[in-house]
Amino acid sequence: MSGSSQHTAHRQGLATEVQEATGESVLKCYQCGKCTAGCPLAAEADHSPNQILRLLQLGLPELEEQALRSLSIWLCLTCETCAARCPQEVDLPRIMEYLRQESLRRGLVHPKAKDILAFHESFLDSIRKGGRLHEVGLIAGYKLRTLHLLQDVLVAPRLLKRGKLKLLPHSIPGRAAVRRLFERTAAPREERT
Ligand code: SF4
Ligand code: SF4
Repeated sequence: MSGSSQHTAHRQGLATEVQEATGESVLKCYQCGKCTAGCPLAAEADHSPNQILRLLQLGLPELEEQALRSLSIWLCLTCETCAARCPQEVDLPRIMEYLRQESLRRGLVHPKAKDILAFHESFLDSIRKGGRLHEVGLIAGYKLRTLHLLQDVLVAPRLLKRGKLKLLPHSIPGRAAVRRLFERTAAPREERT
C-alpha cells in the first residue's frame, strides 16, 4: 500500500491538524509571496514557504505528502522573517515545526535532511534528559548519529578553555515537567487532549 493511500484511511486533512496543533490557519494565506521574498533559505529549498502553504491549502493527500517529504521544512531556520513580513500574520515557523514533527512521525523525512534530523533529535534528547540543553551531550549525540566524528573537533579545546562547553550537564528543578511534556507530545494525537 502506498504512503498516500495509507494516510487517506485515517486522515482528516493536514491543514486541520496544523490548525488544531498550532492555532494557525493555512487558509489565511493569499499567496502574496512576501514571506518567500524575505526568506534567507528560499533559494536553497525545494519549495518556497508560500508553496508549502499552497500544498496544504488544496487538501489533497498527495500534495500534503509532498509538503511532508520536502527538504524546505528541514532547512527552515525559524528565523521569523516570514512571520514578520506576512500581511495575514501567518506564523509560518510554527507551521514548519509541526510539519517537521509530522514528517518524522510518518517516516517521510527527506533523505538530504539526515544530518539536520540528527541534530534535531540530539537537541531534543538533551532537553528531554536534563530539562535544558547540554552542549557536549548534543555534540556527542550528533556525532554518534552522523558518524562525523572529526567535524569541528579542533574547535573543542578552545571552547573548553573559555568555559563555553561544560563537560557535565546540570539539570533544572522542572526537569520532570519537561519530561512529561515530551511524553505528551510523543503520544498518539487522540491521546494528547
Ligand atoms: S506573506 Fe503571508 S499571506 Fe503572503 S504568501 Fe506568505 S504566508 Fe501567505
Ligand atoms: S522562519 Fe523559515 S520559512 Fe520563515 S523566513 Fe525564516 S527560514 Fe524562511
